Amino acid sequence: LQWKRTSVGQLLEHTVRLVEKDAEDAGVSIQIHIDPPDLEMEADGDRLAQVLLNLYLNAIQAMEGGGTLRISVCREGESAVVSIQDTGPGIPKDVLGRIFDPYFTTKPRGVGLGLAIVHRVVEAHQGEVTVHSEPGSGTRFVLRLPLRPTDS
Ligand code: ADP
Ligand code: MG
Repeated sequence: LQWKRTSVGQLLEHTVRLVEKDAEDAGVSIQIHIDPPDLEMEADGDRLAQVLLNLYLNAIQAMEGGGTLRISVCREGESAVVSIQDTGPGIPKDVLGRIFDPYFTTKPRGVGLGLAIVHRVVEAHQGEVTVHSEPGSGTRFVLRLPLRPTDS
């Protein structure tokens, strides 16, 4: 990884800008909450941007009839906690256990690599990714990333 001092807030704002048009076209409004606004971490910003974009695009694609995408970051101890929450249909239990598998997709033209990449990049940052989802109440991905990984 290309470790660099990275502003988490700037990374979120930069990546959100790249999906604003897709969100608008899908009738999805985006709420973003960054606290503290000056939070910094050691990270590979390009790889993390890829992670965030995969999560945003999955969320937007899930909200076919429009909805809200809530993105937030906060600090918990020595970690940054990023939450990406949608108001889409949620993920059935039998699917939930497979979403991080490479090439697993439920989309007609899906590739199924987005979440496999998310998982791999988060692991490389010594972080963890968890998902909370239930049919009918949307989906929330949470990334917990150490501000200073030991080998950065
Ligand atoms: P792809 O987007 O190409 O299908 P991903 O690895 O990004 O591959 O996602 C795998 C699967 O996980 C998706 O096909 C979908 O079934 C499910 N999924 C991921 N994110 C969401 C979400 N926000 N809401 C509902 N289902 C999701
Ligand atoms: Mg995807």
